[in-house]
Amino acid sequence: MAHLAIEGVSKLFGTTFAVRDFALEVGDGELVCLLGPSGSGKSTLLRMIGGFERPSSGTIRIDAKDVTNLPPERRPTGMVFQSHALWTHMDVFNNIAFGLKLRRLPKAEIRERVENALALVGLADYGRRMTTQLSGGQQQRVALARSLVLEPKILLLDEPFASLDQHLRERLREEVRDIQQRLGITTLFVTHGQDEALALADRIVIMRDGCTEQIAPPSTIYRQPQTAFVAGFIGSMN
Ligand code: ADP
Ligand code: MG
Repeated sequence: MAHLAIEGVSKLFGTTFAVRDFALEVGDGELVCLLGPSGSGKSTLLRMIGGFERPSSGTIRIDAKDVTNLPPERRPTGMVFQSHALWTHMDVFNNIAFGLKLRRLPKAEIRERVENALALVGLADYGRRMTTQLSGGQQQRVALARSLVLEPKILLLDEPFASLDQHLRERLREEVRDIQQRLGITTLFVTHGQDEALALADRIVIMRDGCTEQIAPPSTIYRQPQTAFVAGFIGSMN
C-alpha cells in the first residue's frame, strides 16, 4: 500500500504540453481509472509516475518521498504496458524471475516468489512454457505477474487488455480487481473502456489535453458529468 501524490506535473515535448500542471492524490489501496481521448496525456502521465519519462516540472511523491528523478528500478512501482514485450527466448519462469535476478535475491526466494506470482495470475503450471506458446490473454497475465513479483506498492496499467477480445477482457479485469484488493495495491489503470472503468474504479479521472477535466466516483461521473466535454466523451463511448 502506498499514497501517491502528483503535484503540478507537466511534460513538454518540444513546444507542446503532453501533460500540463496535473495534480492528483491517490490513497492507500485505491484504484483510479484514467480515461480520455487518444493523445490526452494518459500514457505520458503513467510513464512519469513509473520513471520512464522525466517531468519538465512538478513533483511526484510516493509515501511522502520525492521520487521525481529516480529511475524506474528505484521506485516502488510496477508497470504493465499495452504491448507486454515479453522475452521470446526465455520461458515464463525466467521472464518473471528476470527482475529478481537483477536484485541478486537467493535462488530459493526467487523460485518461491515466481511461483506465488504465477499462482496469483492463474498460471501455476506454466513456468516452463515458452511465451510464444501462450495465448494473448496468458501473455498479459505473465506481464502482470512480472510486475507483481517485484512487490510494487503502486501498480500502473496502461491499457493492458486493449488487444484482447471482450470476453477475455471482462474476465481479466475481474481478476485484476481481485488481486488488487487482496494485495491492497494502489493502482492507476488507463483504459478506453467505459465498462472497464465502471467495473473497476473507486474514482475516475477524465483527461483532456494533458489536464484533468473531471475527477469523481463512477456513479457521479456518469450521472452528473460536470462539463459538456465529459458528457460528450462519456456519451460517445460504448
Ligand atoms: P494518450 O496515452 O492519452 O493517448 P500520450 O501520453 O501518449 O496520450 O500522448 C500525449 C501527447 O504527447 C500526444 O500529443 C503525443 O503525440 C505526445 N507525445 C507522447 N510521447 C511523445 C514523445 N516521446 N515525443 C513527442 N511527443 C510525444
Ligand atoms: Mg496511451
